[in-house]
Amino acid sequence: MVKALLGLTIAQLQQEVTELGMPRFTAGQIAQWIYQKGATTFDEMTNISKRHRELLADKFVVGRVPAKEVHTSKDGTVKYLFPTEDGQAVETVFIPEKDRATLCVSSQVGCKMNCLFCQTGKQGFHGNLTVTDILNQIYSIDDVDRLTNIVFMGQGEPLDNYDNLNTAIEILTTDYGWAWSPKRITVSTVGLKKNLKRFVEESECHLAVSMHFPFHETREQYMPAERQYGIEEIVELLSQYDWSHQRRLSFEYTMFDGVNDSLVYAKEIVRLLKNLDCRVNLIRYHQIPEVPLSDSPLPKMTAFRDYLTKHGVYTTIRTSRGQDIEAACGMLITKDKN
Ligand code: SF4
Repeated sequence: MVKALLGLTIAQLQQEVTELGMPRFTAGQIAQWIYQKGATTFDEMTNISKRHRELLADKFVVGRVPAKEVHTSKDGTVKYLFPTEDGQAVETVFIPEKDRATLCVSSQVGCKMNCLFCQTGKQGFHGNLTVTDILNQIYSIDDVDRLTNIVFMGQGEPLDNYDNLNTAIEILTTDYGWAWSPKRITVSTVGLKKNLKRFVEESECHLAVSMHFPFHETREQYMPAERQYGIEEIVELLSQYDWSHQRRLSFEYTMFDGVNDSLVYAKEIVRLLKNLDCRVNLIRYHQIPEVPLSDSPLPKMTAFRDYLTKHGVYTTIRTSRGQDIEAACGMLITKDKN
């Protein structure tokens, strides 16, 4: 496989160009063309000499690849299926709203976490995405210039692919790269023990923890990751950091009819989060085949939200988007594996 330049940090680019006998500053020019100007070919890099462009083209590809499939929902949500470097595919979802446009990015093909209510979990784990795969999902959508936010909430557990996630975020947020503020990026996690502390300490991005159940017994029943790192411990760890300033901490809570939508659960959330500066996002469940769970009725969700808000936990109900193209939360799956 020919190596892609999309996904390389400035230090890696410098190493590659000096090995080819080019001056180190060529690395900065390449980064500018790829990460800031969105170049897809070497021919576009006109401030690099023709001979050097030929040398680069002999050894590398830029690394941008178009989507294999694009589906547009009646609500404007767009779902992309992107090929990965190892010949698989992942889904990416573009969600336009009135005053913002969010991209939901995948970090793995499938997922090891096996949450019972999630289509991706049912798919099993098929590999980590490379930095190139992660960035291509962002750079190769039609509306990249409209993006205001990126959320790592697509397929996979981002903290289970920590190094590649971290490098992708570096490229998105540093001056030689896309120079985006980390405050426009949110990373979602079930709370992976091996990397949660590291992420909190090393990154400035927002954090969204997939709680879904505040009680250990129910959470481990639906989310096997709870056995490795319980929600109590996760909250305890997060309580040691300051979330009151620019960085946001949220808890995602998908509501299942008759399972986790009674006020007993709301009361436990209040107890659990009482010392944390955070918010809770209530998410409507989207039924998937062979899973005997259904969505909580809206009046119950509203009552749940009102209880939390009344008891000091800022809570919102998330609007559901792209359900008709299977792009909503928990519905992502790689159907095309060619
Ligand atoms: S909900 Fe997230 S962590 Fe759980 S199986 Fe699905 S993709 Fe993995």
